[in-house]
Amino acid sequence: MSAERLVVIGGDAAGLSAATQARRLRSAGELDIVVLEQGPEISYSACGIPYWVGGLVEDRDRLLARTPADFAAQDITVRADTRAEGIDLSAGEVVAAGGERLGYDALVVATGGDPLRPPVPGLDADGVHGVHRLADGADIRAAIAAGAKRAVVLGGGYIGLEMAEVLQTRGLEVTVVLADPLPMAQLDSDMGERVCAAMCGMGIDVQTDQPVREVEVGPDGAVRAVRTDAGSYDTDLVVLGLGMGPEVALARDSGLGLGATGAIDVAHNQRSRSHPEVFAAGDCVQTFHRITGEAIHVALGTHANKQGRVAGSVIGGRPARFAGVLGTAMTKVGDLEVARTGLCTTQAEDGGFDFRTELIESGTRAGYYPGAAPIHIKIITERGSGLLLGAQIVGGPGSGKRIDVFATAIWAGLTAEQLAGSDLAYAPPFSPTYDPVVVAARVASRIEQG
Ligand SMILES: Cc1cc2nc3c(=O)[nH]c(=O)nc-3n(C[C@H](O)[C@H](O)[C@H](O)COP(=O)(O)OP(=O)(O)OC[C@H]3O[C@@H](n4cnc5c(N)ncnc54)[C@H](O)[C@@H]3O)c2cc1C
Repeated sequence: MSAERLVVIGGDAAGLSAATQARRLRSAGELDIVVLEQGPEISYSACGIPYWVGGLVEDRDRLLARTPADFAAQDITVRADTRAEGIDLSAGEVVAAGGERLGYDALVVATGGDPLRPPVPGLDADGVHGVHRLADGADIRAAIAAGAKRAVVLGGGYIGLEMAEVLQTRGLEVTVVLADPLPMAQLDSDMGERVCAAMCGMGIDVQTDQPVREVEVGPDGAVRAVRTDAGSYDTDLVVLGLGMGPEVALARDSGLGLGATGAIDVAHNQRSRSHPEVFAAGDCVQTFHRITGEAIHVALGTHANKQGRVAGSVIGGRPARFAGVLGTAMTKVGDLEVARTGLCTTQAEDGGFDFRTELIESGTRAGYYPGAAPIHIKIITERGSGLLLGAQIVGGPGSGKRIDVFATAIWAGLTAEQLAGSDLAYAPPFSPTYDPVVVAARVASRIEQG
C-alpha cells in the first residue's frame, strides 16, 4: 500500500508543528509529508526580529530554529521558495508555482498573518518597513547602518512598543504615532496610561489619537515625514506595527469557509468547518475566547504552535483539540513589563458581565532587596461569585510573567479567594512575603466578602 500524502502550506510555526507532530505519529512509510514555503527561510522567529534590529541578537541565523536538512532527517520534505498558488479542493490538489500539482490526502493551510496597512498615500515609499519577515528586519538594520536618525513607528501594540524601544536603543529619535488614545489598546486606560508615561519617560515621543493621513515622500522617492491631522513628523524611517490580520487569500479563493473575524473558520480540532478534510492553524485561523465563547482572531506564536500540533495529531490518528484562548500576552518597553490575560473592563462590559475591578500596587521583590521595583496589578472578578475574569500587570523587571498565574487560575475557574489562599512561592529576591498576585486576589476577595 502506498503512503498517504500530507501537504502543508506555510513553513513556519503552525505548518511545521503540524508536520512534525504528524511525523511523530506516522512513519514515512505511512505518510509522505511535503511543506511548501513561499519565502527563502523556514522555521524562523518573527518574535525575535525586534531584538535582532536592536542588536541584542547580532547573528540573524540565531532566529532560525531548524533548517530543511533537519526536517529531511525526519523524512519531512520542506521546499522553500515554493509558493502555493491555488488549492483545488474538489480534486484534492495544491497548485504550486509553475503549475505543478501536488495531490494530498490531508492538507494543512498555515499561511500566517497579513500585516494591517492603512489606505494612506505614500505607504509604499522607500523607507516604510513592515516587521513581519526576516527580510524586514534586514531592511531596517540596513537603514540604520545607512545613517537613519529618526524613526516613526505607526501603532502602539506590542510590536510597536518593542520596535520603538529597540530603535531608540540604536540611537534613533523615535516618535510613536497611534490612532488610539493610549498605547496597548488591550489594557484598561489606567494601565495604558502607565505604559504611555513610561515611554515618554524614556524619551520616546508618543502622539496619540492621530490616525495617519499620509506618508510624505521626498523628490528622491524616499519617506520624509508622517502626516496626521495634528501635525507632521519628520522621519528617515517608518515602521509599521499596526496589527495583524489573517492571510487568507489562498483559502478564500479556493472556497474554504471564513468566519466572522475574516480568518479561516475551523472546529476545535483545527478542521475547516466548510471542508473537514482540510486543516488550518496559526495566524490564518480564528479561534474562540474561553470566557465569552466568542470567535476571535489572535495572531500569536504560542497559539500557532499549539494549533499546528493539534492538526498534526489529528492527521496522525490521535484525537486532539485546541482549548481556546484567554488573550494572554506580554511585552516590555524599557524596564517596564506589560501583561494581560482574560477580559479587560470593556470586554467584560461588552460581554454583559456584572463585575468589579481592583487595582493594587506592590513590589516585585522584598522591599529591602536590591532591584525591588513597583508593580501594579488590576484584577477583574465577577460580582457575587468572585470568579476571576481578567488581570493586567504593569511593573518593573519580574512583573510580567506573573500573568501566567492569573491565566492558569482563570483557566481552572478559580475564584479570587481561592487564588489568594493558594501556595505561591516566596523568597526576598523574587517577591515580598505576600506575592503581588496574592495581594490583588486577596483585595478582590475581601471586597467580595464585604
Ligand atoms: C515582530 C513580531 C514579534 C512577535 N512577537 C511575538 C511574541 O512575543 N509572542 C508570540 O506569541 N507571538 C509573537 N509574534 C507572532 C508570531 O510570530 C506569529 O503568531 C507566528 O509566527 C504565526 O505562525 P504561523 O505559522 O501561523 O504564521 P507565519 O509565521 O506567518 O508563517 C506562515 C508562513 O506561510 C508562508 N506562506 C504564506 N502563504 C503561502 C503560500 N501561498 N505558499 C507558501 N507559503 C506561504 C509565509 O511565507 C510564512 O512563512 C510576533 C510577530 C512579529 C511579526
